[in-house]
Amino acid sequence: MMNYRYRTQLVFCLAFLLIMPLLSGIVQAYRSDANHRTILVKVIADKKYATQSDWREKARKNLEAASEGLEKVLNIKISISEYEEWRISNISDFGELTAAMVNQVDKGRADIIIGFTLERGSGRTEELRKDGLTLSRRGFMIKTYSGAPEQNKMLTYVIIHEMIHIFGGVHVFDGSIMSPVFNEETELKLDALNMEIVSITKDIDFNRGLASLSKHQLQRLARLYTRAVRLGNRETPTYYELGEIYNHLGQYEDAIDAYRQVVRRDQSIAYAWGEIGDCYRRAGKMDKAIETFKRAINKVSQKGIFYGKIAIIYYNQGDFRSSYDNALRARRNGFEVDQILWREFKKRGIS
Ligand SMILES: [Zn+2]
Repeated sequence: MMNYRYRTQLVFCLAFLLIMPLLSGIVQAYRSDANHRTILVKVIADKKYATQSDWREKARKNLEAASEGLEKVLNIKISISEYEEWRISNISDFGELTAAMVNQVDKGRADIIIGFTLERGSGRTEELRKDGLTLSRRGFMIKTYSGAPEQNKMLTYVIIHEMIHIFGGVHVFDGSIMSPVFNEETELKLDALNMEIVSITKDIDFNRGLASLSKHQLQRLARLYTRAVRLGNRETPTYYELGEIYNHLGQYEDAIDAYRQVVRRDQSIAYAWGEIGDCYRRAGKMDKAIETFKRAINKVSQKGIFYGKIAIIYYNQGDFRSSYDNALRARRNGFEVDQILWREFKKRGIS
């Protein structure tokens, strides 16, 4: 029989996949020598976390402990560039909160953003918890608990785990640090698959993302993610990474297959629909691109951008009437197409 602590310290982690386009290039801010790398981090407190007067010190201690562990496993260190209280943070859903932080906060000269939020500690420690959420290569958020120190026990492991997601690491089911369920008996060791993934991404330029890797490195990564799927990892972030890599390699059919696995699991993920349509467009298959965007309109809440994408395809095909109709639909759904299109419609007397 497992002891009580073992049972009650389950910590679940969820890698998040809504990866939006990278913030445009700022100064490349990392040092790296042969094997060692220091990641520059901007530390964010949401409104709840910032209610603690000593939040900076708390965050720093947690990150220092994680940095020590990460150095042992991967020779990667965390260094804090600055702290900031994030004022626009009244979002109750943890996933939306994390995505909003990564998309809205300016990371300054840092490589990535690490945010902290605070939950009321509940007595119900048996409850399954999702304490970390990562958007690979961009940032993550960590949930901490007030009034129940027991619940913060695994924090160092959660941060190390999320840092490995930052480098494209995926869940494996072997009790290592990249297992999605971990506890006090989890060992601070990394499985061979993630070790290999991080050996490729370790020196990545966070401002340029996958574009900073060579074709050979991207091909190796694609093989590793395919292996992860074969080993039983059928999670959307894994398919999403695979889609991104094939996209960068210009293998659009393979990218479409991977993104399709994402929308098969969650049809409301607008970004994956956008990528499928854009891959068809890049491959010159305009009819399929339009068909995909039309399907997306029926599935997602942000419809305007997809009408806008259809308007641009028709515009480029010289079908200005259809382009105009879709530009109007985009506008009615809160999305404005480029002014160049409106000027062209006017010139041609289309209204
Ligand atoms: Zn995870």
